[in-house]
Amino acid sequence: MIVTRFAPSPTGLLHLGHAFAAITAHDMAFSNLAAPRPGRFLLRIEDIDASRCREEFVTAIYEDLCWLGLEWDEPVVRQTARGDAYRAALAALDRMGLVYPCFCTRREIADEIARAVEAPHGPDGAIYPGTCRGLTRDERARRMAAGVTHTLRLDSAKASAQAGAMTFRDLKAGVVAVEPTLLGDIVLARKDMPAAYHLAVVVDDAHQGVTLLTRGEDLFAATHVQRLLQALLGLPEPEYAHHRLILDASGKKFSKRDHAVTLRSLRESGVTPSEIRARLGL
Ligand code: GLU
Repeated sequence: MIVTRFAPSPTGLLHLGHAFAAITAHDMAFSNLAAPRPGRFLLRIEDIDASRCREEFVTAIYEDLCWLGLEWDEPVVRQTARGDAYRAALAALDRMGLVYPCFCTRREIADEIARAVEAPHGPDGAIYPGTCRGLTRDERARRMAAGVTHTLRLDSAKASAQAGAMTFRDLKAGVVAVEPTLLGDIVLARKDMPAAYHLAVVVDDAHQGVTLLTRGEDLFAATHVQRLLQALLGLPEPEYAHHRLILDASGKKFSKRDHAVTLRSLRESGVTPSEIRARLGL
């Protein structure tokens, strides 16, 4: 049985790009007509970053999906209710010796990158240069005791060595060899947030039993590190369908500030769900 999910963050109204992602996930769950059981389409509200999320946008997500005619299987998972699961996963990685505290501010990281002759790069630009990875145990303890704010990062090189060679399968790209250090030493958790994006997604997709992860190709690089986290945590490996992105007239991704293409404004201007599908080529 194919299990897919749509996992929006309630930081604004859904737009055409979200509609494409949601319809794709929904339709792929029911694409195998020969399957003995129909698929499942799940919804997850990625509200882990409370400072950016608003309840009115959660309500709007439900309204927009209903309007599009996309029925999801209950229960809806909300990341704000999943703290214990994230903490358990983080503790497991910590027991493997793969987590370290990072005391750098964003500013310090940017300065360090600017100073470096050859800063390490990922697909989206410079990555964390590993400043705090080599701190001694005493230095870490001293800063913690002094109450210096810190995030927790994954030692990606060490994690990669422990996990060994890995692959993931994308329906379009085929079998892809994982580059575990592609995004560097990612943040796993931060102050007031028991898990950052990658860790939360991996733990939640396993919890929800997702078998086919559909999402935009802008997250292709994220899949490398998420596959690493799955392997380390002994979680099942889903398949992936990274889909094309819906771009605006100037070739850029829609932003949540683009009011003209929110599903709400399209609906209010009389556009129908089938016109939305047609406009998206679905
Ligand atoms: N919550 C993410 C977003 O709205 C999607 C996460 C994912 O599909 O892995 O962009």
